[in-house]
Amino acid sequence: MRGNADDPAVNFALQNGADDAMNDYRAKTMLADGGCGVLTIDLGALARNYRKLKETAAPAAVAAVVKADAYGLGAGLVSERLYAEGCRHFFVAHFVEAVRLRPTLPVEATLLVLNGLMPGEEEHAADLGVTPVINCLEQAAAWATEAKVRGTRLKAAIQIDTGMSRLGLSEADVASLRADSLFAEAVEPILLMSHLACADTPAAPASAGQLAVMQRVAAHFPGLPVSLANSGGVFLGGAFHFALARPGIAVYGGAPVSDVANPMEPVVRIDIPVIQARTVPAGTAVGYGGTFVTTGETRLATLSGGYADGIPRHLSSSGALYYQGVRLPIAGRVSMDSLTVDASALPEGGLRLGTMVEFVGPSQSLEQVAADAGTISYEILTRLGRRYRRVYI
Ligand SMILES: *Cc1c(COP(=O)(O)O)cnc(C)c1O
Repeated sequence: MRGNADDPAVNFALQNGADDAMNDYRAKTMLADGGCGVLTIDLGALARNYRKLKETAAPAAVAAVVKADAYGLGAGLVSERLYAEGCRHFFVAHFVEAVRLRPTLPVEATLLVLNGLMPGEEEHAADLGVTPVINCLEQAAAWATEAKVRGTRLKAAIQIDTGMSRLGLSEADVASLRADSLFAEAVEPILLMSHLACADTPAAPASAGQLAVMQRVAAHFPGLPVSLANSGGVFLGGAFHFALARPGIAVYGGAPVSDVANPMEPVVRIDIPVIQARTVPAGTAVGYGGTFVTTGETRLATLSGGYADGIPRHLSSSGALYYQGVRLPIAGRVSMDSLTVDASALPEGGLRLGTMVEFVGPSQSLEQVAADAGTISYEILTRLGRRYRRVYI
C-alpha cells in the first residue's frame, strides 16, 4: 500500500517513519491541507488596530474578544500578539475554548468565558484558573459552591442584562445576589459587564438606555471595574468606555460602525487558485442547476474554493472575485469545493491553472463580501473553514 515512490506525499510519509497504509494516508492528508487557497493574516495590522482601539478608549484598558478561534484567525497566535501589545484580558464564548487557550496564555492573562459555565464544568474551570462570566443565579450558586468546596475565594465577572435580553442578571437578580452571603464570602467579583445590542448604529437610542441601566447597577458595586463597550461601543464616546473595553471585530479589521468609512486596517486577505480555465460559446449552462447561461462567447475560470471554505452560497451569480483589480463575477452556483467566475474581462490566457484570484483583499473588502452575501463580516470570518493554508505575516 505504499503507492508510487515518486509521489511526494509518499516520500514524506516514508521519511517520517510511516510503514503502514494509515500513516501514508495521514501524511497525504497533511500535505493536502491548505489545498483550497491561502488565508493571509497580518499580525502587524492586528496590532495596529489594537493600538488604535487603545488610543480611542484611553484611559480605559482594552481586552480582546478571541471567541470562535479569534473570529477564525487563530486564537493562539492572535492572543500571543495582543499580549505583546499589552492586552491582559481575553474573552472566549465557551468553556471548551478556554480549555484550549489557557495553556498558551501567560498566567498574568485573565481568561474569561462569556457564556459562563455549564453545570459540572466548575471544578475544571477553577483548576485551570479560568474566570467565568456569571449570567444567572444558578451559575452564581454553582461557582460559590465550588469555592466553598475548595476553601478559597474564586474570581468571577458578573454580567447584567441592560436591555439586550440575551445574557445576564436582571436588576432583581442583582438584588438577590447582593443579599446572598454565601456568594459574598466565596466569590470575588473582578468585573461588572454588559453587552450593547445596537453599538454599531450610533443613532440608535437603545445604547443610551443601556448605559443608564449600567450606571444604576454599577452604583451598587463601588470600586468594581465595569465593561460595556464592544467594538462599536469604543466609538460611542467616553461615557461607554468605563474601565475596560471588549472589542472583537475591530481588532480583526471589520467595521465597528455601520454606514461610515471603516477606520480599521484590513487584517485578512484570501486568495483562491484557479483549477481550470476554458472558453465556452453562447448558450452554455454553468454549474449546478444550470442557473447561469452565457449570452456570448465567455472565458470561464473554475476556482478551488467553495461554500465549505466559507464562500457563501448566497454569492451565486451575484458576488465577485478580483484579479489584479479586475472584477470577475461569480457565474452560477457556488459549489461545496469550487466556484466558477466569468473571466471575460481578462485577456485570453490571463488565468491559468494555479493563478491566485483575490476573494478578500485590496480590491474587495470583507465588508463588501458580507454585504453581497446579505450578512456581516463576523459571519464571513468565522465560517472560513479549515482548508486554507494559513500564512501569518
Ligand atoms: C462577541 C462579543 C464582544 C465583541 O463584539 P464585537 O462586536 O466583535 O466587538 C464583546 N462582548 C460580548 C459579550 C460579546 O459576545
